[in-house]
This record gives sequence, structure tokens and C-alpha cells, in this order.
Amino acid sequence: MEVDKMNEADWKYHGEGNKSLVVSHVQLSRVLRFLKYPAEDSENPPQTVEQAYRQIQNTVDFSSNVMSSLLGDKFIHSGEVVKLPLEFVRQLSIKVQQQRPAWRCDKVMDIYSGCALCLPNLTSPVLHQQTHTPTLCIEIKPKCGFLPSSKHVSKDIKTKVCRFCMHQHYKVANGKWKRRSLYCPLDLFSGNRQRMQFAIRHLTEEPQNNFKIFKGGQCIYSSKEGSDDSPDLNLLLHHLRPYFMNGNKRINSHMTSKAVLNDFIQVLVDALLSGGGEVMDRRGDGRSFCEASLFNKERVRHASPGLPSDSVLFRILQTQMLDMLDIEGLYPLYRRVEQHLQDFPKERSRLQIDGPYDEDFLEKLQKCPADDDCSVEHAVTKVHQYRVAMTAKDCSIMVTLVPSAEEKDDDDDDEGPRRVSVVRPPAFSCSVSVLDLDPKPFDSVARQLRLDQKIVSCYQRTGGTLP
Ligand code: ATP
Ligand code: ZN
Ligand code: MG
Ligand code: MG
Repeated sequence: MEVDKMNEADWKYHGEGNKSLVVSHVQLSRVLRFLKYPAEDSENPPQTVEQAYRQIQNTVDFSSNVMSSLLGDKFIHSGEVVKLPLEFVRQLSIKVQQQRPAWRCDKVMDIYSGCALCLPNLTSPVLHQQTHTPTLCIEIKPKCGFLPSSKHVSKDIKTKVCRFCMHQHYKVANGKWKRRSLYCPLDLFSGNRQRMQFAIRHLTEEPQNNFKIFKGGQCIYSSKEGSDDSPDLNLLLHHLRPYFMNGNKRINSHMTSKAVLNDFIQVLVDALLSGGGEVMDRRGDGRSFCEASLFNKERVRHASPGLPSDSVLFRILQTQMLDMLDIEGLYPLYRRVEQHLQDFPKERSRLQIDGPYDEDFLEKLQKCPADDDCSVEHAVTKVHQYRVAMTAKDCSIMVTLVPSAEEKDDDDDDEGPRRVSVVRPPAFSCSVSVLDLDPKPFDSVARQLRLDQKIVSCYQRTGGTLP
């Protein structure tokens, strides 16, 4: 990609989150991820070009030096910062504006810095194998997969109902979503196939911003915020059906919708559990079942042990668990750092509050002793651990399914009993990645405490009474 020969005609709107807007190349397997700013700042940019460049470079460093070591580098694509011609960026922003969902338009794409993060397009990878069937890609934003057990937790409910499930009540009460999602992250992270299937089924029913499906690089299934309608599950099944016909064709042409969806979910569970490693037993861990989950508790007793240690879910969960104190236990440490920075503003850089996110940063947070020696160094490392855990609670998993080449060997030719021993190759070659790995700003910790209090008190007022 030559940055001086950029043409907006080669790029199209791909998607966006709360912090960035993503465009994809129409031919190459590339995306550009731009920063977004609040619309009220659209006349004058809230940061300089250098600051914008630094912010994106920080994301690259944080992803490649910190998160990739914690999550496993096989899952991570850190990308690179690119500096683009401003005219290209302006034209592009005009082009994509019509395709943006209205509810995301409280923010505008950064057209001032010319900086963006260039990444491989995980929804349409470069194909090594020529098939006619487009790639399927499933994006899951799993959120936090454990219950806090910190002694600093002041409300008992937080040790019984998971954050996601409580947050759902808050979001419905505030009109952000019309219906509550019955997805529970603790089911997804359980490692128990039935619980995982149960979790993914609820993700398909109410995807919100936790679940999206792409076909050939195009988003074909997602939720619309504030909308009354659920996404069209029948349309999804129509898309999925051709991918799950690889068995006996005569039987599968009559495959019920239920069977198609089951097969699809099965493939996803396999992908999420793949990677190998020892299966980590979590049965003694009281933090692995949420009382708000509708999964039958009786069946949990007979649940299988847990996640394989090299699976993407295990690595994400371990990283999330760097938040050991819970926000309530962390907040006093955050205040200690904040106070120190007020007294000694120059310490900000030595304490690596805004980076650099280098090996030193990683080493410090991996070697942090549990006991508080009342130093600012201890406090700041705990805050850094918490921030890393926040990133792992907010990341997305991309499961890319490339259909295997169609078999030449047709079902219709009759080769007699020898065929019985022929093992069918898997219908997909699958790869798993983790994306959206920005460092969370230092002062986001203060917001987290307030949000935690709001969510918990809302749940205590309305919990269990919503549909
Ligand atoms: P959030 O609000 O979840 O924090 P964000 O603003 O940080 O989101 P991303 O999640 O990184 O932004 O990107 C927005 C969307 O763009 C993603 O949900 C995903 O669908 C798509 N996307 C991002 N990176 C890639 C990629 N490398 N390949 C394909 N699609 C991508
Ligand atoms: Zn839950
Ligand atoms: Mg995201
Ligand atoms: Mg993000």
C-alpha cells in the first residue's frame, strides 16, 4: 500500500466501535482504523497531530509488547501507524458518512491528523486456497468472564451475579437496548460445551454489540442499537445453510434450521476451545457461575472441568483476572497515584502513566508483589494491571472460517464399503484472532468506580423484575 497514491474509491465503510471507525480496501485484505472524536469537537480537533500519532503508536506498542505476551502472539495483529494525505482522509470521511449508523454519529471520524492504524482485514483474509465460497468471520466481544472474589467488594450481589448480566439491566433501564441479552460470559468462559453453546445461542438471539457475523468481508448479522426489532435470524440461516451441507448431501438438503444453527455453534465452540494445552480445572473456583444465567444449575454440577490452557478464552480470562482487587479495592491505590502526581507532576513519565508500553512496563506488572508496601510504585503497578485487565474485558475475538476446497470425491459415486473408513476433512480451516487492544487511559479508573456503583444500585432496585 503506497500512502501517497491513496484513492478513496478503493476503500469502503467497514464498521465502527465507540473509539474508532474502520474502512476496508475493496481488493486487498487491509483495513484502516481511524480515531473518532465527539461531534462537538468537530470544528477544532481535541489533540494535535503528534498526539494523535502517539495515541495510535501507543496502541501498536501496547498490543505488540504487552497484550501479545499475555494473550499469545499467535492471536495478535498489532498493525502499523500510517500517515495519510489529508485530502484522501477528508474525501473518505464524506464517502463513509452515509453508511454510518445514526446512533454512532455522536462522534466524527478524525480528519485532522491523517493518522490511522493499518491492519490485516480479518474478515476477508488472503486466501491460500481457491474456493468459491466466501469466508465466514464471527466477531465475539465476550466481556468479563469471572466473578470478583476480592475482600474489598462491598456488595454481596457482585459475587453472585456477573458484571455483564447486571449491566444488561442497567442498559435496558436506561433505554440503550430494548431487550436484555440472556448471554452470560461465565457460560462462554466455562469450557463446558453445553454451557458454551447455550451462551452462543443467546448471542445470536440478542447480539447487541457482542456478536457480529461477516460473510466475504461484509457484515451480514448484527444488532441495531435502540431498535425494536431483533436481527433476522432466518436471513442468517439462509446465509449459513450452504456452509453446513458438507455431510451426506441427500440428508442435509433437508437439514432443519435448528440443525444448521447447531452445527454453526458447534464449529464456533470448537474454534474457541482450540489451541491445545492442559485443561485447567475450575471446579473449585466459586467464581465460575453466575446466578443470573438461565443455564440449568443442576447440569453445572456435572460440568466438564474447564478451558485448555492455550485456548483464546483461557488466555483472555487469565488476563482479565489481573484485576484481582476489583475496582473497589483498586480505587484507593488509584487515588494514591493521583495524589502523588498532583504533588510531583513530573513523575508521570517515570511511572509510565501514558506509556511507553515497552518490555519494562510488562515486566513490572508481571512481577508485582501482592502485598502493598504503601509505595506509589506498588499503587501504580496495580493500576496498570487493572488497565490491562480492562483491555482484556473489552477486546473482541475474531473467528475466521475459510471453507475447505470442495471435495472431488462425490457422494453419488458408489465405491462400496471402502468409503466407510474415509475420514472427512474438516469443512473449514479456522483461525482465531483478538482485536481491539487499546490501552485504557489512566483516568478511566475513576469513571469505572462511578459506573460500578450505578450498575450495582440499579440492579438492586430492578434486578429480576425485568423481562
Ligand atoms: P469498542 O467500542 O468495542 O471499543 P473500537 O472503537 O475500539 O470498539 P474496534 O473494535 O477496534 O473499535 O473496531 C470496530 C469494528 O471494526 C470491530 O468491531 C470490527 O467489526 C471491525 N474491525 C476492527 N479491526 C478489524 C480488522 N483488523 N479486520 C476486520 N475488521 C476489523
Ligand atoms: Zn452472568
Ligand atoms: Mg471493539
Ligand atoms: Mg475498543
